[in-house]
Amino acid sequence: MADFWIEVDLDAVIHNYKEIHSKLATGCRLMAVVKADAYGLGAVEVARALEEEGCEAFAVTTVAEAIILRQEGVTGRILVLGPSSAADWPQAIAERVELTVSQLNWISVLDEMAGQAGFKAPIHLKLETGMGRTGFTEQTLAELAEALLAASHLEVVGAYTHFARGAQRDENYTRAQFQKYQSGISKLEELGVTVPLKHICNSAAFLDYPEYHCDMVRIGTLLGGHFPSKAFEGKLDLKDPWKAKTRIVHLQKIPRGTYVGYQSLYKSKKETTLAVVPVGYSDGFGLEPKMVPQGILDLGKIIVKNAAALFGLQLGREKMLLKGKTVGIAGKIGMQLTVLDVGDTDCKAGDEIIVPLRRTLANPRILRIYKKKGKYYRKRIIKEGYLSLNTEYSIETGN
Ligand SMILES: *Cc1c(COP(=O)(O)O)cnc(C)c1O
Repeated sequence: MADFWIEVDLDAVIHNYKEIHSKLATGCRLMAVVKADAYGLGAVEVARALEEEGCEAFAVTTVAEAIILRQEGVTGRILVLGPSSAADWPQAIAERVELTVSQLNWISVLDEMAGQAGFKAPIHLKLETGMGRTGFTEQTLAELAEALLAASHLEVVGAYTHFARGAQRDENYTRAQFQKYQSGISKLEELGVTVPLKHICNSAAFLDYPEYHCDMVRIGTLLGGHFPSKAFEGKLDLKDPWKAKTRIVHLQKIPRGTYVGYQSLYKSKKETTLAVVPVGYSDGFGLEPKMVPQGILDLGKIIVKNAAALFGLQLGREKMLLKGKTVGIAGKIGMQLTVLDVGDTDCKAGDEIIVPLRRTLANPRILRIYKKKGKYYRKRIIKEGYLSLNTEYSIETGN
C-alpha cells in the first residue's frame, strides 16, 4: 500500500484543453506547453492524452525533453523553446523535432547537419521584443534573413516572441512587445523570409488579447488548471488535475507541554494527538520559491512573515487536509517526515491526508497515479526516463 502518492486527473487536463480550445480565435491552433514535465503533471502522460484529443503541437524547453516525447510515441509537432547545443541537433533533426533558432551563427551549422541527414530541418525563429532572454533584435534581422536564404536545408516554419508582463497585465508593455514582433515579422517578409506560423501568446496573453492569437497560442499554465495570476481567476472554467496524498503512518496522544521536532519549535498548548506523515523537504514539501515583493504592501507581508518565523510562528504556512478538516504542522518539516497536530479529529493510522505540494517542486520519485477516462493506472518516473508499470490501480478511499 502506497503511503505517499500524487493523483493526476488527465480527464481534468482534457477538460481544460477543450475549454481553452473553445476560446481560440478562428484559424488559431493550440500548442500545449509541456515543459518541466508538464509543470510536474507528467509530460508524456499529458501529451499522449492531449494528442488523443486532437492536439497537434507541443512545446518543451530542451531537446532531451522533446526526444523523450517522441520515443514515448508523441507524433505531433514538438518545438524546443530554449536554446540548444549543436551536440543535440543531429538527434533533433532525425526525430523531426523543431528547434528554436535565436543566434545567427547556429544557422550554417544546423543547415549543414540537416543537409548531411538528408532532411529539411524545421525551425522557429525567436524574436527579442522585451523579455531580454534570447532572440533576434530588430538590428540583426537583415543579417538573419541573408543567412536563412543561404541555408537550403532549413525550413522556417514559424517565428515567435514571448511576453514578459502578461501575468501582471501591463498593457502598455505587452502592446509594445506585440508591435515590435509585428514589425520584425514584416521586415523578415520584406527580406524574402516567409513565416507560416506566427505565435506569440502564452496563457495570460491568450486570455487578455484574443486579437493576438495569430496562427497558434502556446499554453501551459491553463492546461494544468491554474491561472497566470489571481486577476485571471474565473475567466475560464478550469479543473485542477493535481492532488498529492499521504497516509498517517504513526499516531500518538501527547500531554500538554510536549516539544515537537528539531529545535523544539513547537510545544503543545494542551493535550492533543500527533500524526506523522511520510512527507518532507526531500519530496519538495515545504519548499517555496524565493519571495520577490510585488509592491510595498507585499514587501511588508514578507517582512512580517520572516519576523514571525524567528519566534517560531509560521504565518500563512501550508496546512494539510484530514477528512475535510485543515490540520496544522507541528514544528519543523523534516527530510522525509512531518508531524501534524490533529487535535481531537477522529482518525487512525492509514487514514488519507491531502498534502499541499507545489507541482514543479514535487520530487519525480513520488509515485504518480493517473486517471484517464475514469480508469486509474500507476507510473513511476525514473530519472529522465519513464518506466511504465501499467498496472491498474484502484484507490480504496476517495474518488
Ligand atoms: C512557458 C512558455 C509558454 C507557456 O506559458 P504559460 O504562461 O505557462 O502558458 C509559452 N511560451 C514560451 C516561450 C514559454 O517559455
